[in-house]
Amino acid sequence: MDFSMSPEIEAVRDMVSRFMTNEVVPVMEDFEKRQEFPRELIRKAGEAGLYGAVFPESVGGSDMGYMAAAVIIEEMSRQEVRFTSCNNQQGGTCPQAIYLAGTPEQVQKYVPNLLGGRTIGMMSLSENDSGSDALIAMKTFARRDGDVYRITGQKMWASIANETDVGILMAKTDRNAGAKGVTAFIVEPKKYPGFTAKPIDMLGMSKAFRTNAVYLDDFVVPVENRLGAEGEGAKIIMRALQPGRLNVAAKCVGLAQACFEEATRYANERTVRQQPIGRLQMIQDAIAEMATAIEASRTLVYRAAWAMDNDQPTNRIASIAKYHASQTAKMCADKAQQIFGGYGFAREYRVSWYRVYADMLYNGEGSANIQKILIAEDALGYKQADRHHGKTGLRDIRQTDIAEQR
Ligand SMILES: Cc1cc2nc3c(=O)[nH]c(=O)nc-3n(C[C@H](O)[C@H](O)[C@H](O)COP(=O)(O)OP(=O)(O)OC[C@H]3O[C@@H](n4cnc5c(N)ncnc54)[C@H](O)[C@@H]3O)c2cc1C
Repeated sequence: MDFSMSPEIEAVRDMVSRFMTNEVVPVMEDFEKRQEFPRELIRKAGEAGLYGAVFPESVGGSDMGYMAAAVIIEEMSRQEVRFTSCNNQQGGTCPQAIYLAGTPEQVQKYVPNLLGGRTIGMMSLSENDSGSDALIAMKTFARRDGDVYRITGQKMWASIANETDVGILMAKTDRNAGAKGVTAFIVEPKKYPGFTAKPIDMLGMSKAFRTNAVYLDDFVVPVENRLGAEGEGAKIIMRALQPGRLNVAAKCVGLAQACFEEATRYANERTVRQQPIGRLQMIQDAIAEMATAIEASRTLVYRAAWAMDNDQPTNRIASIAKYHASQTAKMCADKAQQIFGGYGFAREYRVSWYRVYADMLYNGEGSANIQKILIAEDALGYKQADRHHGKTGLRDIRQTDIAEQR
């Protein structure tokens, strides 16, 4: 067993660190104040290779793998968690789904532009009446009408849908087939009529990256933009969500680390009775709890990334990593805020809003309860978490020759 990180990945971490320090951190608060989507910054991040680590060079990626991707997201999140709000759309679930199931034409048309930050992505699965059970309870329906589908329904919580150029949207094509009636579509809301995104007023969250309710009224999607066959949507999205879970777990580690760094700095600066509060044992207790949990979560995230890079079963370990890291982020955000005392509630201190992000990550991309069910059912022998490993029939992300069709 080797716990060292390769020099290539350490170099990537340094590059991301410099990019965030120089390009993102100085301007992100201004974007927030102006409530402006940082489109140009996303293009720069794409150009720097922040979204393409797991994709082959043939589609604009760097082919560095999931370990590099985890390190990139961890570092981005450590410096500015709000800027990671589009990572899954640019470099995760959205391009992954297209890469896994798209025709060579679809892959070449859409994936390089998403990874390069030249087009803005989206992944719209959840609805107002369905979240954890989205695939079963989905009501949005796509009706075939000659050369197009017309999609009607309401989607919910679609991140950056108000800005998207190209996204993945899930809809039923057969109302009576449960999850097997779900189909995936590549949608282009700016090009075709019938798509309206309305930003949701979210407590304490980014005003630059918005989460949206989406209203679909005979929204037009050309048949050539269907992703995979009718009814294949569940298989595609479940496979594409696996790395998404790793992304969220890495994001949680970065956020927890940010809480820890803010808390230790403040504990050394703030004095009570002529001594830094860091000298108080109860503050030390909090610091020790944070340091220990972060190390454990980071190790789990890297373990899951290693499994993905080495074609090992990943579903169970990705769930464990996501659950543990999201708990760690919540705990660290809570302790950091307490260490800041009253200042922990003043908006100018980042720890005042870190908690909201930690809570959101605890529930997003498969809630903590859902991860625990998967982990426990596997342990109890009811449902093996990795039963589909190597059997999806979808293209593998390590497959560089996209002309080699399914
Ligand atoms: C900021 C933000 C951004 C998001 N971005 C996107 C996006 O881009 N695209 C997208 O499609 N979705 C997105 N989501 C939706 C997110 O994935 C869902 O919120 C999540 O899947 C949970 O669904 P839900 O909110 O409907 O909760 P529900 O599924 O209604 O769950 C409510 C509660 O019940 C629990 N629960 C549910 N089922 C079970 C069970 N079987 N056993 C025990 N407990 C259970 C859950 O853990 C949770 O605590 C986003 C959400 C947020 C907050």
